[in-house]
Formats: sequence, C-alpha cells, structure tokens
Amino acid sequence: MTSSPIVKNLGRETCREELAAFCAQIGLKTPLWVQGAGGNISRKFLDGEALRLWIKASGYRVGGVTKDVGLVEVDLTNFYAAAHTTGLLPAPNNLEPATVIKEESYHSVLGRSTIAGANGQGRPSMETGLHAMLAAPWVVHLHALSALLMAHVYQQCPEDLAWVCKRHRTVVLPALMPGLSLTWATARHAQASHVILANHGVVLALQHPDELASWQQLEYEFCDRHGFDVLTQLLSGDSASFSRATQQPIPLRFYFPDTAVFFAKIQPFLRQWRSSAAPEPLYVLETDDQDLQEIWAAQQILYAACPELPSLPDAIVNSVASLPTEQLRLAKIAS
Ligand SMILES: [Zn+2]
Repeated sequence: MTSSPIVKNLGRETCREELAAFCAQIGLKTPLWVQGAGGNISRKFLDGEALRLWIKASGYRVGGVTKDVGLVEVDLTNFYAAAHTTGLLPAPNNLEPATVIKEESYHSVLGRSTIAGANGQGRPSMETGLHAMLAAPWVVHLHALSALLMAHVYQQCPEDLAWVCKRHRTVVLPALMPGLSLTWATARHAQASHVILANHGVVLALQHPDELASWQQLEYEFCDRHGFDVLTQLLSGDSASFSRATQQPIPLRFYFPDTAVFFAKIQPFLRQWRSSAAPEPLYVLETDDQDLQEIWAAQQILYAACPELPSLPDAIVNSVASLPTEQLRLAKIAS
C-alpha cells in the first residue's frame, strides 16, 4: 500500500470509540455475519506520520467489544517495513499458498508490530494482514453466509454474479488458507470494495461505516434474486425461519475455516440422527456453548439454503487447525 485516504483529524481515542460502536452494531447480526469469535473489524488512523490501526483482538466476540475490551493496536508502518525486510511482501503474483516458515514469519512480524500497553488488549487477529493490504480506513471482515453463496454462484457461472460485480468494485477469490496466503491474495486487490472469499466470507473496504448498509441491501437482493429463500427470510429478521433451520439435522460439512478450527470442540457434542433413509449420516449439536452453537447454526442455515454448497478443500481443512495463531486462539477461548 503506497497511499491512504486516512484523514488526520481524528485521534486514536476517537477512532477506538467509533470502532467499538461499529463492532457492537455488527455483532447484532450474529450468526448471519459472524459466529463465535470469528470475523474482525478495523479502523486505520495516523499517529503523527505513522499509520496505525485498531482491530478486534483474537478470541473476542465482535458483539462483545467495547472501547476498553477486545481491541488491539497495530503499527502498520512498522508492519509494512518488517514484512518487506523479511520477504513477506510484496505479495507473489500468483495465488500460491504460504509455506509454514513464511506463515510463522508473518505471525512474528504481526506480533512485533503490535503496540503493547494498557490500552491495547490481546493479540491482533491472524487476519490483520488483509486489513493492512486494503487502502480503506474501515475494513470489515465477515463470515457472512450470503458471501459463501455468492462465491458458489460465481464459481458455477461467473456471469450469474456479474450484476454484483458491476455495482461494486467486487472480486471473488477461491478458497484460501487464512493468514498470510489470504493476505497475499488481498494485496492484489487493494482498491476493491468487496472481496468475496469462497468458503470463508467477505471483506468490505469502507470509507465510512454507513456504507455497510449497501452490503446489507446487496446480500438481501442476492438471496432473493437467486432463490436462497431461507437466508432471505433470515436476513429480513424472520425468527420462525431461524428456529426451523437450526432444528434440522445436517450432514457434516466444513463450509468455513472455523468449522475445521473448532471441530475438536464440536465433535464431542455431535449426535447422529437416526435416519436410515438419508444417504449419509446426519447430525445435531447438543451443547450450551454459544460459540459452537453459532458455528453449527451457520452450517445448518447454509445446508438448508444450498445443499450442494461445497465444503472447503480437504487440504485446507486438514492444515487450518494447526496454524500457530489458531492454536493461540483456541488457547485463549479455553482460558
Ligand atoms: Zn475470517
């Protein structure tokens, strides 16, 4: 990133307060936009000549963030410099996955760019890199159910999503490993406003929080237009549809990285549904754990909306849970 529209007239405290309020607003859309501690929102600001950002800390629920809890500060000027020095940037031209060594280097650079102190909390999200690659002052990364369906429609036939791509500066990326691989892929689209991530969600680059309303309108219009009726009803606030969808047993799918990351926690609470008619085993989740319930509810809604929606590629499912940052995230939640 070489230039930024970041305005200088707001201080870091104002930015932090505005970001916390925005997180609270977004958290109201759980689990349709975020589930558990997933998703992350950031706000860039200038501290003198240094570009910094506030971002939701790893392991915190978006809806639980306040100005004093769950936000962490990162020195982006330092991050860019260190990433270039260590060969993490510039991003490679193709969509190559990052090696384990480079992923660990990214984790280390991110840690060294985090501003410690009483005002910042925890560790920045492993997805901070993608926030850093986008020029916009506000970046919203949602595990939005509608985005997975958009990517699926696009992958079936790109022309069917052309109306979305024409309306916004939209790109659709294939399923990728979170972390550095996703950071690299995002770096190639620094001026995009909507980055739709297959089997993951969406990244919105906003000049102002009010622009989130256009995403809300877009996803509703998309679900309505493409016949994803369950989600259309849920997006319009139909609580009866939510109860119906989240009572249904479903086959085991890994629609999101988080389903794989948290599978060890989910698995003990899965009960097989006795149905000899189903071609594959069906499951219900029996737990009071809110985070796990939300991840499973997202799976149920997506299956109800689109039974043919593909899972993440096995290679990503198998390796995503072993990322060092994800292990930390699990440790955070367990503590
Ligand atoms: Zn994510």
